[in-house]
Amino acid sequence: MNIYQKFGLRKIINASGKMTVLGASAVHSEIAQALSAAAMDYVDIHELMIAAGKKIAQVTGAENGCPTAGAAPGIAIATAAVIAGENLALVERVPNTDGLKNEIILQKGHSVHFGASLPQMIALGGGKVVEVGQANHVEKDHILGAINEKTAALFYIKSHHAVQKGMQSLETMIAIAKERNIPILVDAAAEEDFKCYIAKGADIVIYSGGKALEGPTSGLICGREDLIKACHKQYKGIGRAMKVGKESIVGLMTALERYELKDDDSQGQMDRMNWLIQELAAVPGIKGALVQDEAGRAIYRAQLTVDEKITGISAITLAKELEAGDPAIYTRNYYANIGIINIDPRPLLLDQEKIIANRIREIMSKCKGKEEK
Ligand SMILES: *Cc1c(COP(=O)(O)O)cnc(C)c1O
Repeated sequence: MNIYQKFGLRKIINASGKMTVLGASAVHSEIAQALSAAAMDYVDIHELMIAAGKKIAQVTGAENGCPTAGAAPGIAIATAAVIAGENLALVERVPNTDGLKNEIILQKGHSVHFGASLPQMIALGGGKVVEVGQANHVEKDHILGAINEKTAALFYIKSHHAVQKGMQSLETMIAIAKERNIPILVDAAAEEDFKCYIAKGADIVIYSGGKALEGPTSGLICGREDLIKACHKQYKGIGRAMKVGKESIVGLMTALERYELKDDDSQGQMDRMNWLIQELAAVPGIKGALVQDEAGRAIYRAQLTVDEKITGISAITLAKELEAGDPAIYTRNYYANIGIINIDPRPLLLDQEKIIANRIREIMSKCKGKEEK
């Protein structure tokens, strides 16, 4: 029985990804031990925040860092930082930023829902979102034309949630930001490369601690010294409503240390997914293929294409059946409407791909039975 079952909840197999709604990451025992040790003792929180910032800087190559309760709070805090700076009176006024430089320029295809609304997180930090261009088409002139004396920052999101075509590149946005002397903020919440955006010249980059880093529910901001100092200052303002606990900070620091030593496990992921594809090869109407992540990350998933004419059920129904079972299996369903479900190997615990293979076979044999009656 797992801890959640003890409290009357269902056991979940997460084949979906680093999903906040499913608890993001199941942490390594070393991180779990760090969390519990931190919870059982006292520390000067201010000193801990500074030490965490140094650790973040070390791993990201940025000048400094600031821990947060998640990437979403990171977006709000970083926005507040570029608008209010370290001025306490202004810090305490956020999200009311009337009369200040508060406009945040965002390409329309980047105005997305990542599980919550990105523009709302910017607004929470006092940013007035200025969307430029169209949902599938933005030109450099759209961005240049929106810049005025009220512009506080440019905002770029690197994510599979964003429109991938027709947007201006990060390099272009950085070049504009440098030329106009405006900070550029990057939401790279789920990205695996903790160095490249800083190296390219972003002023602030925001990551989730519970996604690629495989840490506890947490987040981090890294970037330019003056802006990071301003991020820390926001904990006297809106940051207080998004407080990151001492356990989470220590868990995040431990995850950062582990990340530096981590080997590439993509071969292991591929092996597990190829095994699953082989196992399902004999199931009529399900075609498996190994596919790389759509945003180009080193993630290899099993893509299962469901031919409804043969299986008698759609990919959407299959996903629902998997979720309805015990344990409940959550697959990656962004393309279920076109007959595709994906199995993400990263969050699977030992041998769970075997349970998934069995369950899919079971559901399919049941459907066939119905058809024949
Ligand atoms: C997940 C995600 C977030 C939110 O991250 P949390 O750590 O859950 O707060 C923000 N932006 C993007 C692009 C994400 O994928």
